[in-house]
Amino acid sequence: MKITVDQDKCVASGQCVVAAERVFDQREEDGVVVLLDAEPPAERAEDVRRAASMCPALAIHVRG
Ligand code: SF4
Repeated sequence: MKITVDQDKCVASGQCVVAAERVFDQREEDGVVVLLDAEPPAERAEDVRRAASMCPALAIHVRG
């Protein structure tokens, strides 16, 4: 699984952090998403897919 995020689209809602806190974080100053792990292990795949589906800005892209 490979993840990319589009920080320009992100509206800082924080849903991704709630769904997968080991993979996503938010920038201190404005809440924009920060990708902590672009290739997380298989056991986090379900959380990552949930995060992507919950993102209101469609800023999370998952391959594999
Ligand atoms: S869920 Fe989407 S819009 Fe919200 S912080 Fe994460 S990437 Fe940004």
